[in-house]
Amino acid sequence: MLGAIIGDVVGSIYEFNNIHTKDFPLFSPASTFTDDSIMSMAVAEWLLTDEHHTHSSLIEIMSDYYHQFPDPMGGYGNRFAHWLAAPSALKKPYNSFGNGSAMRASACGWVAPTCQEAMRLAKISAEITHNHPEGIKGAQAVAAGVWMMRHGALKCDVADFLTQKLGYTFDEDLASLRSTYSFDETCQGTIPAAFTAFGESASFEDAIRNAISIGGDSDTVACITGAFAEAFYKVIPADIIHEMYKRLPSEWWHIIWRIKAFENHHVSPDNIDFLKSEQIFVFGSNKEGQHYGGAAAYAHKYFHAEWGVGEGITGLCYALPTMDGIVELDKAVGRFTEHALADPDHNYLVTAVGCGIAGYTPNEIAPMFMEAASLPNVYLPQCFWDVLDKFIKVV
Ligand SMILES: [Mg+2]
Repeated sequence: MLGAIIGDVVGSIYEFNNIHTKDFPLFSPASTFTDDSIMSMAVAEWLLTDEHHTHSSLIEIMSDYYHQFPDPMGGYGNRFAHWLAAPSALKKPYNSFGNGSAMRASACGWVAPTCQEAMRLAKISAEITHNHPEGIKGAQAVAAGVWMMRHGALKCDVADFLTQKLGYTFDEDLASLRSTYSFDETCQGTIPAAFTAFGESASFEDAIRNAISIGGDSDTVACITGAFAEAFYKVIPADIIHEMYKRLPSEWWHIIWRIKAFENHHVSPDNIDFLKSEQIFVFGSNKEGQHYGGAAAYAHKYFHAEWGVGEGITGLCYALPTMDGIVELDKAVGRFTEHALADPDHNYLVTAVGCGIAGYTPNEIAPMFMEAASLPNVYLPQCFWDVLDKFIKVV
């Protein structure tokens, strides 16, 4: 879902000012989230908070987001704006096949345990407004594509699925789209273009650039392309995430990281006897780096943790100071998360830091690792996942 929001932010300034090139600054001072991101957030919050996934709760949550963000850059689509402004009892579906159903559906592909469930959730998310068969199909195409690629599907597998199950055709390649594509706010016109921009990409960022380069409804095309690209490429470069930190409301991040943590459920081994070349042992010590006991002594003896280094990279390890109170530890975990984000080439095997000599429980420590848990290169001990799963896995 973060990939979709990034696509929206990058595309925000090009929706009404198309460019037909891949050579542009990814972010400019005016780049901002629009209706695509706002409604993606609403769907994500609905997925995480309503275990029954009712139409009525989604309508309420979408209305709340609209009241918080009544006038985003580019506004809302005309009929959707009327729907949003109407009292709940009068919010009836209006048979739309606009791409609004597709742009908001990506989180369905992240939380669902099966592809079928992803499509069921996408259908519910669409049909409160976009109950036209094409409106529902657009949402399902995004949710199913995301789900499939999270589970190892290749680009061609997803293209086949979209063709055979949902009836989409991919008649034009990217170069052709770049010369022919124009503003098209239907699902039928947007899904094939967005998927082609993703299909011909070499990386997450390249996919977003492809999407912008064909013009049209740029924020929404890039939003849908970004949804596919995030699920396929897994890693979003840290510099892009930093730009997003500047541009999204801070309260959104908790939901974004919770959605992302459905993907990266990596468990540290119980006993770590040796490290592969890409692995880093993350242990708890004290600020002074006196590694006398527990995992710290082990890290010093076997993995070259240096005496006197109490925080950060040391030998084949990363030290976290656990003896100076929970507030200091929380800040150190934040710095660790930043470090891991910026170093996707190493896998960080976190041990049950703070739960040995420092005397805390996993219930106290695990929530500090919520953001780290969403990173593909961070592994957490099972006792931390047991805590995090309680509020990640609502479905
Ligand atoms: Mg928009």
